[in-house]
Amino acid sequence: VFDVLVVGGGPAGAAAAIYAARKGINTGVVAERFGGQVLDTMAIENFISVKETEGPKFAVALEQHVKEYDVDIMNVQRAEKLIAGDIIEVQLASGATLKAKTVVLATGARWRQMGVPGEEQYRNKGVAYCPHCDGPLFKGKRVSVVGGGNSGVEAAIDLAGIVAHVTLLEFGSELRADAVLQRKLYSLPNVKVITDAQTTEVTGDGTRVNGLVYTDRKSGESHKIELEGIFVQIGLLPNTEWLKGTVALSNRGEIEVDARGQTSVPGVFAAGDVTTVPYKQIVIAMGEGAKASLSAFDHLIRTSAP
Ligand code: FAD
Repeated sequence: VFDVLVVGGGPAGAAAAIYAARKGINTGVVAERFGGQVLDTMAIENFISVKETEGPKFAVALEQHVKEYDVDIMNVQRAEKLIAGDIIEVQLASGATLKAKTVVLATGARWRQMGVPGEEQYRNKGVAYCPHCDGPLFKGKRVSVVGGGNSGVEAAIDLAGIVAHVTLLEFGSELRADAVLQRKLYSLPNVKVITDAQTTEVTGDGTRVNGLVYTDRKSGESHKIELEGIFVQIGLLPNTEWLKGTVALSNRGEIEVDARGQTSVPGVFAAGDVTTVPYKQIVIAMGEGAKASLSAFDHLIRTSAP
């Protein structure tokens, strides 16, 4: 029986595992893909104290740091079910069941993709998902933002201060963002909004993005925009499908946590992109992971026999 079982091996899970192991308690990490989203990242320039690094390099450093401690790492294992109780059970896709006194859920999230030709090919080569992360890479360039909800409009406002020009494309006939954000957006001189636009292709020169093709859903005509970057903002999906009916989720499917990372289930904590905590960033996920683990330790010393 683990004292702390961490589910997820991204920045949040790695931080949780290290903080638990440093208490000298029996710690395990089960992860489908150790490293998490940073494996899909190229430049990381906002992890404070590390001026710049690359995602895969950062992921290796995460794993090495965890391996400095006595942590049972179960990589390439997917959790499929959580069963609450004094001893919490986590069932894996392999058929095995893990038992733990406390669990830290850190299964992260994934950006919804457009699913059009060129998107995958030019990922990190002009196709981006995180304006806080990659915005500065497009300084002085032309970009588009796909998606006219709050995150898309926020991204367009943010990027307009950095890049030369932003074209925001919305599939529907109007933007879905809050009115205050829309007012701000429309006040910016270097932003153009196109509604009824269905993105159909990302184009490039073989190494980098050079344009985007969309269909005007009213006229049926196809248009091409020349640009250097595309920010896809059509949703961030938390990896919580497997938790439905166990821990309380928000209407977006994020795990609801309090200020200590406690979920609705006693002994079960959560951290990182999978939770309701805003701003999905490495530095935030790590802080939350550390916090959830300290909360789990606190729970253990209050509930376990000495
Ligand atoms: P994740 O990194 O999503 O890790 C989740 C972990 O859980 C993974 O190990 C996954 O395999 C595992 N998992 C999921 N489901 C299960 C399951 N059922 N069973 C077992 N394991 C499971 N942030 C920055 O701060 N700076 C950047 O420059 C930056 N650039 C980015 C670029 C890209 C392209 C992307 C996609 C994200 C970027 N981010 C950046 C965001 C950052 O990567 C995330 O905020 C961070 O990785 C969140 O960490 P996490 O541990 O919460 O989740």
